[in-house]
Amino acid sequence: MEIKLDITPIKEWSGYKGRPFLISGPCSAETEEQVMKTAEQLATVREVCVFRSGIWKPRTRPNSFEGVGTEGLKWLRKVKEKTGLLVCTEVANERHVYEALKYGIDMLWIGARTSVNPFTVQEISDALNGVDVMVMVKNPVNPDIELWIGAIERIAKAGITRLGAIHRGFSSYEKTVYRNQPNWQLPIELRRKIPELPIICDPSHIAGARIYLHEISQKAMDLNFDGLMLESHIDPDHALSDAAQQLTPDELKELLCRLILRNPVPSDPKLLDVLGELRQQIDVYDDYLLDVIEQRMKVAETIGQYKKENNITILQSTRWDEIMKKVIARGLAKGLSPEAIDTIFKAIHQESINHQMRIMNNGLNVEKEVK
Ligand code: PEP
Ligand code: MN
Repeated sequence: MEIKLDITPIKEWSGYKGRPFLISGPCSAETEEQVMKTAEQLATVREVCVFRSGIWKPRTRPNSFEGVGTEGLKWLRKVKEKTGLLVCTEVANERHVYEALKYGIDMLWIGARTSVNPFTVQEISDALNGVDVMVMVKNPVNPDIELWIGAIERIAKAGITRLGAIHRGFSSYEKTVYRNQPNWQLPIELRRKIPELPIICDPSHIAGARIYLHEISQKAMDLNFDGLMLESHIDPDHALSDAAQQLTPDELKELLCRLILRNPVPSDPKLLDVLGELRQQIDVYDDYLLDVIEQRMKVAETIGQYKKENNITILQSTRWDEIMKKVIARGLAKGLSPEAIDTIFKAIHQESINHQMRIMNNGLNVEKEVK
């Protein structure tokens, strides 16, 4: 079901220069000189609309750099005066909101470790009541779309209409090449549920390493995200936080030059841009389906091991009958035909049996015999 929120279209936001709405700047403000130099160079990058910098840094472990605090807000105010760029910072509690507003910060973002907590988001929302400022809500660290939507709704309730979401990927126990798993299906689902909500991608925190920034940015643009948040620093290798994922302003320019911007709406109906975007979404869902099937097979293998150890047969027909009845009923409620569900689940079940068989028969490939 679609959710209705009072959102100002991003094209009407202050600082908007076109797609991608680009937010850039260092992960953390470290010194006045680092902030000013980065901002002066970024002011020469045509696409940059907003300068970002963390003042209060949520760090995973103590004894790492936790930000310069309120002092840094003066530097951000100076960036605004000297370069004309709008400025934004992360707020994680009521005090941060009051301090940031006192220094004229134009945009606030709620970080992933904050949007996960409804108490804190509500505290921030209360502090924002009646204030006219731009607010971006990063996805929570865990892939829970309801929690993300809940945080957005809480901020909307404070009367914030220049409101958007930032997709920064999700933590997981399994380590992949990226720092955070993109789980693209979540921002796609968010767009489906709240179509008017601007969505910005944060490739820096998804990637964790600068080599992946271009491919993630391109994917976000191809999925028709409204903008990008990319961390940049005059000397990334010596940054006090997130050194591996930051770009110099020159590298940022180069990334932007390589970015292909496809039209979200074809000017000529013969252009297949819409189809292209939908196919991208299909690809995302297909990857997702494969991941889910893989996970299901892992569970089937564990079951196979258990049955082997306890000398139980693989096929438990009552259980299988229950599964089929349940999935057909649930499929019907989702508008899926019983025939399709029957075919899909029989194939999945067959594959599960094959996996269990392999475990039982010590790695022998017995697929043919089972069929
Ligand atoms: C950041 O933007 O530097 C940051 C801490 O982000 P996140 O909340 O996405 O980890
Ligand atoms: Mn960072």
